[in-house]
Amino acid sequence: MSKLFIAGEVLHSAGSLEELKNVKGQKAVIVTGGSSMRKSGSLDRAIGFLNEAGIETKVFEGVEEDPSSATCFDGAEVMRKFQPDWIVGLGGCSAIDAAKMMWVFYEHPDADFDEMTKPFSVPTLRNKAKFIAIPSTSGTGTETTGLAVITDREKGVKYPIVSYELTPDIAIVDGEICATMPAHVTSNTGLDALTHCVEAYVSNIEDNYADALAKGGLDIVFKNLKEAVNNPGNIKARQNMHDASFMGGLAFNNAWLGIVHSLSHQVGALYGIPHGASNAIFLPNVIRYNAKATERFPELAQVIGKETAEDLAVAVETLRSEVNNQASIKEFGISQEDWDKNLDYIANNAFADPCTGFNPRKPTVEELKDIYNACYHGEVVNF
Ligand SMILES: [Zn+2]
Repeated sequence: MSKLFIAGEVLHSAGSLEELKNVKGQKAVIVTGGSSMRKSGSLDRAIGFLNEAGIETKVFEGVEEDPSSATCFDGAEVMRKFQPDWIVGLGGCSAIDAAKMMWVFYEHPDADFDEMTKPFSVPTLRNKAKFIAIPSTSGTGTETTGLAVITDREKGVKYPIVSYELTPDIAIVDGEICATMPAHVTSNTGLDALTHCVEAYVSNIEDNYADALAKGGLDIVFKNLKEAVNNPGNIKARQNMHDASFMGGLAFNNAWLGIVHSLSHQVGALYGIPHGASNAIFLPNVIRYNAKATERFPELAQVIGKETAEDLAVAVETLRSEVNNQASIKEFGISQEDWDKNLDYIANNAFADPCTGFNPRKPTVEELKDIYNACYHGEVVNF
């Protein structure tokens, strides 16, 4: 049985934030990150629209990049005192993912975090509140996925919490909110969206819907990412990238991801390398590695007027350099000594990552190490 898991209602156009005026409810907690949503005015506009709907609001501000479980407990405590019937995640994916986990601990104060790191272990939600996701970056597609990535800082591990319970009730995909996104965040998140499209397309789950979304999202990223980076005020390009991010998210919510994400989660947790930036480093070599096990890359290459898996890998490398992104892990200032010391640890964790099971080619830990080493130096994989 195939079922398409998608946000309950999807409002996607420039200016769609205003639709908050039409939400029915009593109280909302808005969860957001540092200060970008306040500075850009999006937070005040969201509060204003909810107030117009007769909804009382409370703001939980300051969710950090790569949010920890401790932050999620803090937010849940605020929610338990305020008793909202809506939770609004407004900002980058860190804010929205944290808001999702706050929602879980608000409804289930005794839920065990470690238990929920096992796939589909989140208890039933919507007993107290429903969820609105309003992304300000165009990458993870968290506004339509049943995924929240939470970091355990002590262990240096990023946990993807996976459950369709976490798929938002309303997604507001408004490109205007992205207009103030810095260039490096635009490029990193856009390359993440691209990676979702590629990995979902070649994953070992066959799904016609996901395939169409992945192809469509890939096409939009190649046509719009450079413009969104170079001309941040171009709302058309912003909206296009926002749509591509949603499409990539919807594709992988149903067809899953592969080892680019398995490799990336580890260097993100250990070295703090931005998720999209490491994805863009691993993706070309993983395309080369996976091309030995799947015939599907030429179909994706055709979307951008190319022919082979190698063409697609090179096109990703070209786009990556055109948006000024790094081509190797060592460019993040990680010494060879430090890398060698941690290689076994991250390769084993990548092997155990849930995304590895959906990759079209079953890797060994040794192969993952070889891909890691090639990408550390910015070399090409060919095995
Ligand atoms: Zn991703």
